[in-house]
Amino acid sequence: MITEKLVVTTIEESKGEISRAAEIIRNGGLVAMPTETVYGLAANALNEKAVSDIFAAKGRPQDNPLIVHISNIEMLNNLVSDIPSVAQKCISKFWPGPFTAILPKSDIIPSSVCAGLDTIAIRMPSNPIARALIEKSGVPLAAPSANLSGSPSPTTAEHVLLDLDGKIDAVIMAGKSDVGVESTVVTFAVNPPRLLRPGGITAEQLRKIIPELVIDKAVFSEPEKGKPVASPGMKYKHYSPKANVIIIDSNAEKYAEYVNGHTGEDVYALCFDGDTESLVAPCISYGNENDSAEQATRLFDALRTLDNQGCKICYARMPKTQGVGLAVYNRLIRAAAFEVIKL
Ligand code: AMP
Ligand code: MG
Repeated sequence: MITEKLVVTTIEESKGEISRAAEIIRNGGLVAMPTETVYGLAANALNEKAVSDIFAAKGRPQDNPLIVHISNIEMLNNLVSDIPSVAQKCISKFWPGPFTAILPKSDIIPSSVCAGLDTIAIRMPSNPIARALIEKSGVPLAAPSANLSGSPSPTTAEHVLLDLDGKIDAVIMAGKSDVGVESTVVTFAVNPPRLLRPGGITAEQLRKIIPELVIDKAVFSEPEKGKPVASPGMKYKHYSPKANVIIIDSNAEKYAEYVNGHTGEDVYALCFDGDTESLVAPCISYGNENDSAEQATRLFDALRTLDNQGCKICYARMPKTQGVGLAVYNRLIRAAAFEVIKL
């Protein structure tokens, strides 16, 4: 298969490309689309064959359900059987945006989208190109991240092509994702609601609406083997570069001392901007130490760069866990297979 590259600048200037992408979706094809979180691999969520093609292209385990993307509230009403009032408040506040609500599903959605669960994950993205594509397609779009399962999520169209060129019908080429990590996922199928995955909408923002919000254990720690998990995606080793990543939880001085004492062939430092001068090892920075939003936009690209440069061992500096920092930490600790050294 030849993957069509559809360059989109603005909605007004790229009407033809967006119409072409929508036509591919309506014909049951797969299109990688930009969103404000990461690039998503989109297909008609109501077409069972198209949904199964998403799983095949990504090599995604069948028991890991997909998020369905919508562009208006009527679409939501068709997909769910109930919207608790607290969910309604969050939706009004955080949509469109990087917030996914898990709600009881209606019957029109194929069970493969939800991996056989009786709930469905739904999000209304704010990226205008994603919105235009959903609108033009006229159907809700199932769209997991547009990467091979297990590799770092794509924050540019180039990342998508590195993983999926020749395996999908088209990719919309539209620059970098604004947030850089996947959406915040909250389930309203339990009481009190539970944060399953941190993202661009922070736990602090959510608590203003849901003071009783529970943060699932799997956000911070490795799920116990064999035990059921609230969000199937949490049990998979995610975002993992080929390198062995080890998080160092310390200040800048102790970090530099430790990394400089453990140099070797293909040993790298994944650090903050100010750290590079004190380190002997080759360094990849993922942003300013005090700017979690910047770290979120740079982390996945930094993980891919480590692989491209042949990194075998990577000592990563621990991010702050407030605000969007919790999402950065959640992704990094999975990339590190939960290996943290506290100094
Ligand atoms: P991705 O599509 O790669 O961003 O991953 C979607 C995430 O949402 C995964 O961690 C899924 O396990 C989770 N998810 C999707 N649907 C549900 C659901 N119905 N219940 C719990 N978690 C879900
Ligand atoms: Mg993913």
